[in-house]
Amino acid sequence: MIYLLGLDIGGTKTEALVADERFNVLGHVVHSTRVGGPDETLRGILATVEETLQESSLSPSQLSVIGVGIPGQVKPETGEVQFAVNLGLEAYPLGHALSEMLGVPVAVENDVRLAALGAYHLLIRQQTLNSLAYISVGTGIAAGLVLNGQLYRGASGMAGEIGHIVINEQGELCPCGQRGCLETVAAGPAIMRQIEQSGLVGQARSISDLLALRGNPEADALVAQVAHALARAIQWVVMACDVERVALGGGVTKAGLGLLHAIHAEMAAFREESALIRMMLPDERVTLLPEGINPGLYGAIRLAQETAKHKEPRH
Ligand SMILES: [Zn+2]
Repeated sequence: MIYLLGLDIGGTKTEALVADERFNVLGHVVHSTRVGGPDETLRGILATVEETLQESSLSPSQLSVIGVGIPGQVKPETGEVQFAVNLGLEAYPLGHALSEMLGVPVAVENDVRLAALGAYHLLIRQQTLNSLAYISVGTGIAAGLVLNGQLYRGASGMAGEIGHIVINEQGELCPCGQRGCLETVAAGPAIMRQIEQSGLVGQARSISDLLALRGNPEADALVAQVAHALARAIQWVVMACDVERVALGGGVTKAGLGLLHAIHAEMAAFREESALIRMMLPDERVTLLPEGINPGLYGAIRLAQETAKHKEPRH
């Protein structure tokens, strides 16, 4: 029997899951991510892994592969985390360190990319699907691309970094050095900043709160502005890659159907102007993932499975 372990390491929590090759879940553990240097983060990851293995009644040697998703820039060939700002990791050989300590092969990939892989495999249970973009809207904004059923990384591993496409040249300064990036309008901290600059300070702390204030002109305008930017982002990935589906995830999209409807309204306005957009951007092309499923964790298990397949001896 093949056993796989998936790890989703986020800025606030680390989630681990053990499954067999048929994706039956044997153990599932969620802990706060330990930040404060690479050693501390690694200790936290190991504790989460060990607890999940205990829950699954397995030892590390019974695992085929561990798949790991982590925010930041990752070199999948070596498992090196080049840059994970929120976790304080830089040029850190995470794959190697984990593999050494547990004696199990480890595959590491960027978390949004793994969420795209997970979302793709969740959606193809219900429909045939050749390509998908997953847009994560949270502290930052990024897209993961699955094209022809395979993850697409790009020439330098930066494919899908749409958070730094400029949407307003006169906009706010972004930490990347440009002005008016998508992230400065529609990411979680940008929404919070715009609320603080408005008359709604004290009444709202998130897009969900703004949606609950429907009818308040200031709240409606802010929701429309965020939805407009996200609708443009959806248009970019559809026009650039002609993906069949765009799945939305990340903290901001927990606002749910209210936000999706606001995005649909902006897409409808784009369609009014153009026959091309009517063809390319129907509402059905965009979907929210069901709540309660972490696509990043599912993607980590899928990565582990794909890696295990490649490690099997060839006859
Ligand atoms: Zn930027």
